[in-house]
Amino acid sequence: MKILVTGGTGYIGSHTCVELLNEGYEVVIVDNFSNSKPEVTEKIKKITNKDIKFYKGDVCSRELIEKIFNENEIDGVIHFAGYKAVGESVKKPLMYYQNNLESTINLLDVMQNHNCKTFIFSSSATVYGIQDTPKYVETMERRKQSNPYGRTKSMIEQILEDLYTSDNSWNITLLRYFNPVGSHESGLLGDDPSGIPNNLMPYILRVSTHQLEKLTIFGRDYETPDGTCIRDYIHVVDLAKGHLKALKHAKENPSNLYIYNLGSGKGISVQEMVDTFEKVNNLKLNYVYGERRAGDLPEYYADANKALKELNWKTEKTLEDMCKDSYNFAINSKSE
Ligand code: NAD
Ligand code: UDP
Repeated sequence: MKILVTGGTGYIGSHTCVELLNEGYEVVIVDNFSNSKPEVTEKIKKITNKDIKFYKGDVCSRELIEKIFNENEIDGVIHFAGYKAVGESVKKPLMYYQNNLESTINLLDVMQNHNCKTFIFSSSATVYGIQDTPKYVETMERRKQSNPYGRTKSMIEQILEDLYTSDNSWNITLLRYFNPVGSHESGLLGDDPSGIPNNLMPYILRVSTHQLEKLTIFGRDYETPDGTCIRDYIHVVDLAKGHLKALKHAKENPSNLYIYNLGSGKGISVQEMVDTFEKVNNLKLNYVYGERRAGDLPEYYADANKALKELNWKTEKTLEDMCKDSYNFAINSKSE
């Protein structure tokens, strides 16, 4: 079976390509390297010892996507390509709406013309907005998101629902990721954002490798057991495997629209993350406590039961694995 992976050289896409290849799928990647590097394709090949077909270019280009579908019998699409930086989306909303929406609409339109209707979309827990309880369940309505990035995810979910309503031969899966961290055990793939990172783990990694001086823990006065924010962190390899389960499920249960949370179901505080990182990697992190970051919610985590029941998927890796594998990637990429 041949799968088109958009954004396949990015953080989650590259890990998913590895799992797809390991399971015997054929993989076609399209990426414009707006947030990834060309050498990732070689790393995927090195890890799997399998070949991939690669197209460099923009998913917003009708011509390119048509060309890919004309040259390959694509059985399904996993759509990772998109911009994802919350802060940047506030400063450049048009760029975010244009890239994230246009790429998706273009892709869906070409898929429709080629009668390829299996589509898996990278959504996010951000679509829940602020709920009345911290445990997010798929049956909850989408609520107002706090930034343009989040709104692109919510809008795309709506577009996909409308598409399915118009033609229920589509087979659409919305995967709502919680907080992906960690790296492939080889240390070859990982999350390496350009510039100063905003997310917790990439920031911890820069401090642990002495590229940044200190981590600031944003807020210590939340109503949580240790006062720091709680999130549901998920190892990227577990997350990648979730896509394979979703693909298998979609092929076995066609003509539907499914929504799944991909998270561990367990909340971890920033303090626990920092303490565990120090312990498993046997180092001291330079950190201080600072003000709360605007827009942060005190606590949320996934209700992961639906994915377990219907996809037979659950996370297997531990917080220790996330910290160890992330650090392994950081030292490995620093020494490259
Ligand atoms: P990433 O930036 O590492 O990967 C995205 C890839 O898409 C990059 O390689 C980039 O070059 C490519 N890309 C972007 N726009 C493109 C375009 N128009 N044409 C071709 N390629 C394009 O991000 P990631 O962390 O791997 O995230 C993958 C997806 O998952 C994104 O849609 C993101 O919004 C979503 N997501 C990520 C997180 C997270 O915390 N990492 C959480 C929830 C959802
Ligand atoms: N965080 C922090 N210091 C940082 C970056 C993040 O204390 O330098 C905290 C942030 O306040 C949040 C958690 O770490 O509680 C996860 O933040 P991240 O940006 O990684 O993901 P989010 O859940 O906000 O999407």
